Amino acid sequence: MAGQRLKAAILIVSDTASRDHSTDKVGGVLTETFGQQGDRWDKPTVAIVPDNILEIQRHVSRWADGEDHFNLIITSGGTGFALKDHTPEAVLPLIHRHAPGLVHAMLATSLEITPFAMMARPVAGIRHKSIVLTVPGSPKGAKECVEAVIKLLPHACIQAAGADSRTLHAGGIQKLEKEAGVVPSASDKDHHHCQHHGHGHGHAIPKAHTTLAERPSSNDPAVGPTRRYRTSPYPMISVDEALKLVSEYTPDPTIVEVPVGISLVGAVLAEDVFAAEAVPAYRASIVDGYAVIAPSSPGNGKSTKGEFPVASVSHAQAASMPPPLDSGSIARITTGAPLPDNANAVVMVEDTVLVSATPDGKEEAVVEILTADIEIGENIREPGSDVKLGSKILEKGDLITAVGGEIGLLTSTGTKTVKIYKKPCIGVLSTGDELVEHDASVKLTGGQIRDLNRPSLISCLTSWGFPTVDLGIAKDTSGHLEEILRDAMRGSSPSNPTGVDVIITTGGVSMGELDLLKPTIERQLGGTIHFGRVSMKPGKPTTFATVPFKPSASTSKERETKVIFSLPGNPASALVTLNLFVLPSLHKAMGLTQRGLPVVKASLTHSIPKDPKRTEYHRAIVGSSEVDGRMIATSTGITGVGQRSSRVGSLAKANALLVLEPGSGSIEKGQLVEALMMGPIA
Ligand code: AMP
Ligand code: MG
Repeated sequence: MAGQRLKAAILIVSDTASRDHSTDKVGGVLTETFGQQGDRWDKPTVAIVPDNILEIQRHVSRWADGEDHFNLIITSGGTGFALKDHTPEAVLPLIHRHAPGLVHAMLATSLEITPFAMMARPVAGIRHKSIVLTVPGSPKGAKECVEAVIKLLPHACIQAAGADSRTLHAGGIQKLEKEAGVVPSASDKDHHHCQHHGHGHGHAIPKAHTTLAERPSSNDPAVGPTRRYRTSPYPMISVDEALKLVSEYTPDPTIVEVPVGISLVGAVLAEDVFAAEAVPAYRASIVDGYAVIAPSSPGNGKSTKGEFPVASVSHAQAASMPPPLDSGSIARITTGAPLPDNANAVVMVEDTVLVSATPDGKEEAVVEILTADIEIGENIREPGSDVKLGSKILEKGDLITAVGGEIGLLTSTGTKTVKIYKKPCIGVLSTGDELVEHDASVKLTGGQIRDLNRPSLISCLTSWGFPTVDLGIAKDTSGHLEEILRDAMRGSSPSNPTGVDVIITTGGVSMGELDLLKPTIERQLGGTIHFGRVSMKPGKPTTFATVPFKPSASTSKERETKVIFSLPGNPASALVTLNLFVLPSLHKAMGLTQRGLPVVKASLTHSIPKDPKRTEYHRAIVGSSEVDGRMIATSTGITGVGQRSSRVGSLAKANALLVLEPGSGSIEKGQLVEALMMGPIA
């Protein structure tokens, strides 16, 4: 690492430059500054975004997270006092460890040049293994600040990336200063120890055995409410980014072989299926009528028209074949019945009349065929003409629907078993000391409320066709929560013998001191929280995590990845986020390629005010207009508490979530909006 070239990324934060990239000067100036450092740095990557918190966070976290991270991320602009300046506010929550020394160095340098440096609000720190700095938006200010620290940055970056401190510091601080090309003043020499700890110099400090990425960002519940974060340490990400993370971190589906039967409905095939039998297996009649021997070239007295003796009868239910047909005779045949040998066409009964019956009057003796136009092959299904033996009848990824076509194909060809993707089993847990079972015959006291999330979530999951396990209510204590989550994954009860694949919890993900989900997942279960805040309404604290799980030492089973969705406690938020985030994850786990709710466009029947900041998932009824059949959408309540996240009634009668982008003013009546369909069209 020490000798490797380092990677820097520069994010220009400017409304103007984002509209017209040619107005940006900082990208060029800083690229040149890095170029002047010899071959220490690769040419920096430059991107331009407007003064928008989400956009800034998206870039910084994309650059810092993951294997291919940048060593240094510099934002330029938006650090002043103007109303639209909020780069520090975007960057601060992303920082795992602060670096006030870098801030100090930048400010001290700038203050020597102008007192206006006081008006800068720089931020510096480390996210995972990347150093993040914010510098002013003016090319001059940006250059000064970067130059103030650039000599020390390679060393800082290498350390942040996890280089071994002992090796790095061998030779002492003078060697490092020399390598960096910085000469400290005499007074610096006396004081540097307070900044620079390590083995080669000064006092030794304990060495961490975890990497930065492994350390949790959640509150430590043990330290109590006075020490909790007062703003969420999880970056606010957009719904699209959250969905990407869900898709990326939901484990790939597993395959099982199951018998063909009605329980297959709702499953996705994990293999191509080939016909084990032809359909039909024999030459079959398409109509009720008479099997005939049609002449290959009609004329010369040869015709299907005329009177013929009825030689035999072929019924569809016959287990044996009818006798061969003699020339000059015909055989009565029913729809689906096998054709006698020698017969090559069927005349439908409508094209015939009875000429004479047998002496007992019960059977047909002679029948007249009224048409001469019957062609060879007419009204016959050849063997394999519906399904050819060995042909591909269904494909890997096909959903076995309740319509019946897929089950029909499998059963008609005698397919006995198929490989499908195993549907995930989902445990549903409510959390909160205030919760009471919905059917408990008690009078609620104090702050008690009935647990409605579990029954409503389980109903929804069951209607989607997933097996569920009711995990009950967890108390607001970390130990209790951990025990329930571990038991749920392990499977230790008759109602949950094998362990669940996915856990959905509700409650306990807001900012209160009793909000224990994130710390329990990170600190007790060793899980990774992929996101803990989403820019949406309702559902902001929605949390998605994966947890490594070893079934038990006694089994030879591989380590598995379990998925945990910790949804907000407010009931409308819980149901909306279940539909929006959990469903696509379950779809991936069950092998579907088309994931999540289907989308239609519908025209609003009234105006709806927009949320200024967050995308709203507005509960609505979508139906078709009686006037012109177009899709129309009507809110389940826009006044007062209409869409409040605690009001589960906003989902009663609702069949859609309208996706309303943030902004000022209203979306007007008649405007088309995107509607995510949760249920059938009204
Ligand atoms: P929390 O995130 O735990 O603070 O929960 C947010 C709000 O949702 C609180 O008012 C809770 O009482 C409420 N809540 C949490 N879980 C449930 C539940 N299972 N049923 C109904 N309301 C709930
Ligand atoms: Mg709670």
